Amino acid sequence: MVKVKSLGEIELMRESALVVSKTLGMLAKEIKPGVTTMHLDQLAESFIRDLGAEPGFLGLYDFPNTLCVSPNEQVVHGIPNDKPLQEGDILSVDCGAIKNGFYGDHAYTFEVGEVAEATKKLIEVTKKSLYIGIEAFCHGNRVGDLGHAIQTYIESFGYGVVRELVGHGLGKTMHESPEIPNYGKKGRGKKFINGMVIAIEPMINLGTKNIRHFSDGWTIKTADNQPSAHFEHNVALIDGKPQLLSTFDYIHEALGIQSDEENPFKKLTSKT
Ligand code: MG
Ligand code: MG
Repeated sequence: MVKVKSLGEIELMRESALVVSKTLGMLAKEIKPGVTTMHLDQLAESFIRDLGAEPGFLGLYDFPNTLCVSPNEQVVHGIPNDKPLQEGDILSVDCGAIKNGFYGDHAYTFEVGEVAEATKKLIEVTKKSLYIGIEAFCHGNRVGDLGHAIQTYIESFGYGVVRELVGHGLGKTMHESPEIPNYGKKGRGKKFINGMVIAIEPMINLGTKNIRHFSDGWTIKTADNQPSAHFEHNVALIDGKPQLLSTFDYIHEALGIQSDEENPFKKLTSKT
């Protein structure tokens, strides 16, 4: 059952989302060759607690850490370890936080130093597909329309859309109804309604869409060992339009990236 949120609850969820946005912004400055993902995890945990929130992933389904860190051919759910990052790696960082009883949950794929052109393109296209998905989260559309929009865009580049992992409703629990696949058929699935809050999260592979599970019970990688990228935002449906609760502004600021992708989906604030 979809748990529709009031405007008040959505404002609380914006606070939870911002904890994660700020944490990812802090990490953006730390991600470089030689740094270990365990170090990033420790930084993230204390940062979240300092913001008066709790790590959202730690202990959830028995996950052992604050961050899911998935380098290169890893798709999602990688566990932090003591292996230093190397020049040319990419690193998908997924982070969750709980504040006021609500979850924030989003993700960004970072470049470690100079990255191969084909991988850069994968990252750019995956990020763009996230905003295409957000645009489709609107009055009159259904879950299948959103998935179809992402899938059509991604497959025009010959990339693989992971099938086994999907976005989801978000609220007082991390995974709520409905599931939000990054593929689908127009006009199918649940109708979007005002007060829905969802996590949209394309997981896109440079090569095959197929995945493999590590024996650690968590890590998922591409079947052909080619790179995979992952971007995630938290979005509320208000007055029939998508409104971002999370932001990559802190990351963009840290990395000196100019971006206007989020502008159409930002909450309008009064200047008076
Ligand atoms: Mg996530
Ligand atoms: Mg998620």
